[in-house]
Amino acid sequence: MSARPPRVVGRRGEIARVPFSVVNPATEQTIVELDEAGVDEADQAVARARAAYPAWRAVAPNDRARLLRRLAALVEEHGEELARIESQNVGKPIVGARAEVGMAADVLHFYAGAVDKHHGETIPVGGGVDLTFREPLGVVGLIVPWNFPLNISSWKLGPALACGNTVVLKPAELTPLSALRLAELVLEAGIPEGVVNVLVGPGRVVGQRLVEHPDVAKIGFTGSTEVGRGVMRGAAGTIKRVTLELGGKSANVVFADADLERAAAAAPYAVFDNAGQDCCARSRILVERSAYDRFAELLVTATGALAVGDPADDATEMGPLISADHRERVASFVDGDVLFRGDVPEGPGYWYPCTLVEATNDDRIAREEVFGPVAALIPFTDEEDAVRIANDTPYGLSGSIWTENGARALRVARALESGVLSVNSNSSVRHSTPFGGFKQSGFGRELGLNALDGYSEVKNVFVAT
Ligand code: NDP
Repeated sequence: MSARPPRVVGRRGEIARVPFSVVNPATEQTIVELDEAGVDEADQAVARARAAYPAWRAVAPNDRARLLRRLAALVEEHGEELARIESQNVGKPIVGARAEVGMAADVLHFYAGAVDKHHGETIPVGGGVDLTFREPLGVVGLIVPWNFPLNISSWKLGPALACGNTVVLKPAELTPLSALRLAELVLEAGIPEGVVNVLVGPGRVVGQRLVEHPDVAKIGFTGSTEVGRGVMRGAAGTIKRVTLELGGKSANVVFADADLERAAAAAPYAVFDNAGQDCCARSRILVERSAYDRFAELLVTATGALAVGDPADDATEMGPLISADHRERVASFVDGDVLFRGDVPEGPGYWYPCTLVEATNDDRIAREEVFGPVAALIPFTDEEDAVRIANDTPYGLSGSIWTENGARALRVARALESGVLSVNSNSSVRHSTPFGGFKQSGFGRELGLNALDGYSEVKNVFVAT
C-alpha cells in the first residue's frame, strides 16, 4: 500500500507533454491547463498496470472488497466536490451531477460486495472432479466518453478491480477532471499504486495505443458507434476482449391508452436530460395517431417548463452542450417542421434550445444519433406499426413503453430489439441491473452481476480421482 501522491499521467510536472485547456462549457472559460499524454506515456501506464497486476490479483478477496468499500466511502465523502468538478467540466446541472456521484458510490459498494460472490462451480463428470475458476484478465483499458465521465468510469472500474484486474483509465480529453480526482481517492483508499492509472490524451493516439497494445487484455469502451467499430478492428490484432457501449436512437412509445399527462410530463426528461447527450436518450417519440395532437400539446407545455441555465444553480434542469463543435453538429439536424424551440441564456456558453420536430422515421433526425436536446415526434397507427418503427433503426440500446395495458406492455417489450427497456418510466440504469445494447449499440453488459463476466475468464480444471 502506498500513501505517496498519485502518478497521474497528464498532470503538469509528471511525464506528459503537449498542453491543452480544459474548458467549462457554460462559461467558455479555461478551468485548468493539462499536459497531453502520447504513445510513450500510454506504454508507461500499461507497464505500471502490468507490474501491479500480480500483487493485486493475489490480494485476498476480503481485503480487495474492503479497499473498494473504502473507495466508495471516499467518493461519498467527497461527493459535493466531485459533483462540482463534474458540473463545471461537463456543464451538467449540479443536481444531476450529485445523483451521478451517488450512483458511482453505489456502483463501487455493489462491486465491493460482489468480490467474493462471483465464483466458480463444481460440475459432475466421470472419472474425477471438474472445477471452474473465475480468473482476472490482466491489464484492462477503460475508454470513457465525456457525457457521464465519473459515472461511466465507475461502471467499468468497479467490476474490473473486483475481479482482480489492474486498469488504465482513459477519460475523454474534454472531461478528464473527475477521473483525475478519482485517481487520488483510489490511492487515499489504500489501493496500491499502479492498480489504477489515469491517462489523459487524445483518443486517436492514446486510446488507439491501448486498443492495440499487446499487454492490454481487454478494452471496456463507451462512445460513438464509429469509434467503437475502430476499437473492434484494432482489438482483432491481439484477439483482445472488448465490451462496446455505443450510440442509440431509442424510442419512447406512447399508446393512446397511456396516462398521457404522466407520459408527457416525463418525456422531456427522457431526451433533454444531460442536454440530450445521453446514449439512452429517447429521441424518437412515437405516439399513437389517435392521441397525437393531445400528447403533442402536453409535451410542448412540459418542454417549455424545463429550467435551462446556470449548471451551478440547484433549480437548473438543463445546461449547455459540451463544445462549440458539438453545437454546430446538433444544429445541422434541425431543418424540418419545428413544433417547439425553447429559450437559452444569453452570453457565453455552448447553449442549444430544447427542440421538438415533427418527423417521419425516414428523416435524418430519426435515423442518426443527434446527441443534443432535439427530439423527433413520429405518429404510428397501431401496435404492430409502433414495433415496426421502433425497430427500424440500426441501434438497440434503450426505450420506454407507455400504456395502461399490462399484457401489451410485456408483448411490446419482448418485441423491441433493445437491451434496456422501461414501462411507464424513463429509467435506464441502476447499479444492480444489466445495461447494454442490441445491434449496433454494442455488446457486453455493464452494471449488475453481468458486468463481472466481462472482466474475467472462466477456467475449467479437471482432477482425475
Ligand atoms: P468518441 O467515440 O469519439 O469518444 C469516446 C471515447 O473514445 C473518448 O474517450 C475518446 O477520446 C476515445 N477515442 C476517440 N477516438 C479513439 C480511437 N481511435 N481509439 C480509441 N479511443 C478513441 O465519441 P465523441 O466523444 O467524439 O462523441 C461523438 C458522438 O459519439 C456523439 O455525438 C454521440 O453520438 C456518440 N457518443 C455516445 C456515447 C455513449 O454514451 N454511447 C458517449 C459519447 C459519445 P477523446 O475524446 O479524448 O479523443
